[in-house]
Amino acid sequence: MRSELYIDGKWLKPLKGGTFDVVNPATEEVIHKAPAATADDVDLAVAAARRAFDKDGWPRFSGVERAAYLRAIADGIRNRQAEIARLEVIDNGKPFPEADWDVADAAGCFDFYAGLAEQLDNNVEEPIALPDARFTSKAVREPIGVAGAIIPWNYPLLMAAWKVAPALAAGCTVVLKPAEQTSLSALELAAIADEVNLPAGVLNVVTGAGTVVGQAIIDHKGVDKLAFTGSGPVGSKIMAAAARDIKRVSLELGGKSPFVVFDDADIEEAVEWIMFGIFWNQGQVCSATSRVLVQDGIYARLLQRLVEETKRITIGNGLDDSILLGPLVSKRQYDQVLGAVERARSAGATIACGGGRPEGFDKGYYVEPTILTNVPLDSDAWREEIFGPVVCIRPFASEEEAVALANDSRFGLAAAVMSRDEVRAERVAAAFRAGIVWINCSQPTFTEAPWGGYKESGIGRELGRWGLENYLETKQITRFVGEEPWGWYIKPAETTR
Ligand code: NAP
Ligand code: MG
Repeated sequence: MRSELYIDGKWLKPLKGGTFDVVNPATEEVIHKAPAATADDVDLAVAAARRAFDKDGWPRFSGVERAAYLRAIADGIRNRQAEIARLEVIDNGKPFPEADWDVADAAGCFDFYAGLAEQLDNNVEEPIALPDARFTSKAVREPIGVAGAIIPWNYPLLMAAWKVAPALAAGCTVVLKPAEQTSLSALELAAIADEVNLPAGVLNVVTGAGTVVGQAIIDHKGVDKLAFTGSGPVGSKIMAAAARDIKRVSLELGGKSPFVVFDDADIEEAVEWIMFGIFWNQGQVCSATSRVLVQDGIYARLLQRLVEETKRITIGNGLDDSILLGPLVSKRQYDQVLGAVERARSAGATIACGGGRPEGFDKGYYVEPTILTNVPLDSDAWREEIFGPVVCIRPFASEEEAVALANDSRFGLAAAVMSRDEVRAERVAAAFRAGIVWINCSQPTFTEAPWGGYKESGIGRELGRWGLENYLETKQITRFVGEEPWGWYIKPAETTR
């Protein structure tokens, strides 16, 4: 576990010497003191990133050269996969197999963007057809500059990879701020970058509070682009800061994603995908399918099977074998989720199972997997993100009703539909107002495919080639190949255009 910031290729103590506690959410023990940066450290990090971009030529490396670094980082992650996965477990609380999956995915993300960096070398120049033969024009893609990346705690290393890999591939340099709850793996990513001799200043990692370090990044004049994943209110602040300086900005802000199950669906398969959609990562997933809509004909039977299976979920420390649900990330998240369940109960919802702290745990931020029925449509439980292992389930009669209920949300990150009728499934998929739609499944996420939300779920897309676009500017270069200038002033011509 690292105790220093990674700035300009060096490990540095925060200038003001601060630290913050790293807490293992399974035991509530303080397991480490992490470095708490301040605005002065952010100044150093941005200066290093600026120099690496403006003077040291990271953007002028060929795509093939940048790709070699990205592939080395991917290998570096894989070489220490189990060790980093263990860090994620003691920091975030998730079960080890999930953390192991995330870390492998993060390595894969670096490999994927290495591939796109290589293609950039061939793709940068796009000729433009002009209606005037005296000119030729082309469009070239160039990196935006210094990217400030601010990430949440639910997928610590993976969220870092989703931002750092495309940014570096594009030729941007990065100042990364992980969430205070989970800073350990971002510092390991810095260590891997250091091991593979990534040029100094290309990746800087500054840990500390959002209101201090995050705020200093978003306010910094030396930062050209902000990339954020997290809550809506902080997303608004980031967009406001970006508006002030006309920084480029991309936001991924979570949602309240529906899962529509028609009565021709296989009940066992539906139960499996519903559970994956809401209990994986303790439900702390931006795209979690937290509103389940089930057609009348199978509602009662599906609910019964869902409750039976949910009660069988094994809960415990993510480092123990055969655990399917770990603790929530922090005391704050624990209080927030149990508070949301209490408010749902007061609003008239029925708790079909769970709803509290599991028995037998005197330490750790554990919350039972919880199923809510009879949830009023105007309640917070139905409308707001709970970000925990809590699902609302309700019946519907017609396709029209299901689509209307699904889309009746200020969010639009993900939506899912299950039906054996392919035509109907496609029709519902088309009707969803959401950036990510799953048919006959929920949550499978591929680095190759675009990720992001409609409505208040965010702006821009990560992953795939769309993720690279986030870090690129477009420049036109137009050349005069005519015989004489346009001659508007010193040699007036009869017709100029
Ligand atoms: P958050 O406050 O939005 O945190 C996300 C990141 O933004 C963290 O790195 C945070 O730093 C930083 N941050 C906070 N204030 C900032 C500011 N003024 N300027 C710049 N950066 C700032 O989210 P949270 O408090 O951890 O979680 C609250 C809720 O957000 C959750 O219950 C959930 O609903 C939602 N959430 C969504 C996602 C998602 O994937 N879309 C992920 C996590 C949470 P620090 O936390 O270190 O202070
Ligand atoms: Mg922690």
